[in-house]
Amino acid sequence: MSEKSGEKSKVPVPQKRPETEKFWEGCKEGKLLLQKCNDCGEYIFYPRALCPHCMSQSLSWVESSGRGEVYTFSIHHRGPTPGFKPPYVVALIDLEEGVRIMSNVIGCDPNEVKIGMKVKVTFEQLSEDIYLPKFVPA
Ligand SMILES: [Zn+2]
Repeated sequence: MSEKSGEKSKVPVPQKRPETEKFWEGCKEGKLLLQKCNDCGEYIFYPRALCPHCMSQSLSWVESSGRGEVYTFSIHHRGPTPGFKPPYVVALIDLEEGVRIMSNVIGCDPNEVKIGMKVKVTFEQLSEDIYLPKFVPA
């Protein structure tokens, strides 16, 4: 990721927390894991300790199909820190399971991204331990 050898990534790297550790482990294995409530059956994203629908603490981890569609997006021509390579696409993706995830659409010209476009997950290595879920045209 870095331009000069030995240089650390200039893109902020997410920090693991107890409630997100399993999520990041999944990403490292190429799996997009979502929480699912054992009481009301709703899928949950982002990872957390309580179901936001019924407040249950009984949550399971399930693997997402990784497929979804673009709900909305914006094309960024300037990054917040060095290391972001504009232009890039920030998008809200509606996964098949019914949760919405903010990510990037990569692997195509930003001008080709459309609302409703079918996408599937891929993973980009950000650090030794963190692989970030991103989306490519499906
Ligand atoms: Zn619930």
